[in-house]
Amino acid sequence: MTDLIKLTVSEALKGLKSRQFSAVELTKAYIKQMEEGRKYNAYVVETTEQALEQAKLSDEHYTNGTNRALEGIPLGVKDLFCTKGIQTTACSHILDNFVPQYESTVTQNLLNNGSVFLGKLNMDEFAMGSSTETSYYKPAVNPYSKDKLLVPGGSSGGSAAAVCANMCAAATGTDTGGSIRQPASFCGITGIKPTYGRCSRWGIIAYASSLDQAGPMTKDVRDAAIMLKCMAGYDPKDSTSANIEVPDFEKVLGQDIKGLKIGIPKEYRSDGLNKEVASYWDKAAEMFKLRGAEIVEISLPHTKYALPTYYIIAPAETSSNLARYDGIRYGLRINGEKADDLYINTRTKGFGAEVKRRIMIGTYVLSAGYYDAYYIKAQKVRRLIKQDFEKAFEKCDLILTPTSPFSAFEIGDKSMNENPINMYLNDVFTVSVNLAGLPALSLPIGLDSKGLPLGMQLIGRAFDEETIFKAGYALEEDVAFKRK
Ligand code: GLN
Repeated sequence: MTDLIKLTVSEALKGLKSRQFSAVELTKAYIKQMEEGRKYNAYVVETTEQALEQAKLSDEHYTNGTNRALEGIPLGVKDLFCTKGIQTTACSHILDNFVPQYESTVTQNLLNNGSVFLGKLNMDEFAMGSSTETSYYKPAVNPYSKDKLLVPGGSSGGSAAAVCANMCAAATGTDTGGSIRQPASFCGITGIKPTYGRCSRWGIIAYASSLDQAGPMTKDVRDAAIMLKCMAGYDPKDSTSANIEVPDFEKVLGQDIKGLKIGIPKEYRSDGLNKEVASYWDKAAEMFKLRGAEIVEISLPHTKYALPTYYIIAPAETSSNLARYDGIRYGLRINGEKADDLYINTRTKGFGAEVKRRIMIGTYVLSAGYYDAYYIKAQKVRRLIKQDFEKAFEKCDLILTPTSPFSAFEIGDKSMNENPINMYLNDVFTVSVNLAGLPALSLPIGLDSKGLPLGMQLIGRAFDEETIFKAGYALEEDVAFKRK
């Protein structure tokens, strides 16, 4: 029975449908694995009792023949999603004991599809970070760690560690600048950041609203297709949610990719690029070629401005979004003599150092006198970055790049306090995609000489996740990556 946890979502659905095992048995197997995997610090809240109740109901649905698309599938939920009646803190001290009165649209969609929730997953505080080290609940640990503890990536590091170590069948993540793709790459799993607007942001704690998107983190490409179909859809409660039909992504898997034009952006291949990453990148291109795809060189000339642009726009939106945590309305409150002291005490104690840094940078770039020089300038560059992609997609159907410039590093190795830029460099291949609002998938391509996973990224046109899934599935078949 312990092998149940190794099944992908699609395999588990088959087993459940044919009654080889029950949803309760499947859920119990995952609960046992969660207990064994506590050393990874992937879950910050475990909701096992509720999960067993949900699983029981799922078994009834199977008996009655009313089973839905994800009936009885045990999932983990990133702690950025509000879950009704279940503590949600975005892994920040300032949201201590916050229990939402409502369910985010994405998690509600998953529940409506019959899934079972095992708990809330660790992450960087308010999704700011690339290693899960900024979490108030201490870092999650990469299951690939050997003698030294490695980061699982971030900000959705708990989600990646949980999927990697079979502590859930799949998980939700969010991605503002790479937070689904980079941890997926570090933990040898698959993750897709869909087109901006594909998934509703309603009920997801806001970091940078013009960049935030939810997406699935899964054991393989098929699971990502199944999960995204269930998570996505128009939601009138989010004014930026797209009123566009969600295709059946699974349908395209296995389709021929002959003639597909795959772009390789020359600006991504700097002299300093890690040799192993570069060689896997060539290998992936070669695999596509062997399947009859055409490899074309493209140019994304404003790439070098993507990180500075992102690290102006994201903090600007943060400083506005996080103004609501004042000690009055939610979570932590530290009283003072005057009302002002209450605000100051709460925000001083409640926010971690990285969150404070971003609030200050954001406040600075939005302040009178600097607004034009920084914020407006960054918005203009953002447009140029978007136009780069539009031009590139006249020449190709998909863009292939590495997901991250390196594999997982040791906990404590890239201290944000000493030099945050070192940490920000994690996002060099991922942030442009968010600035342009495009969809992108990361899937494992192989292990480096340290035995650690590396990921490849496939970037598509807006609302064309189907082409990404089709090509991703083909690459996955050729790579035949052995899941941990
Ligand atoms: N690492 C990036 C940041 O710290 C991206 C985080 C994210 O996508 N949420 O902003």
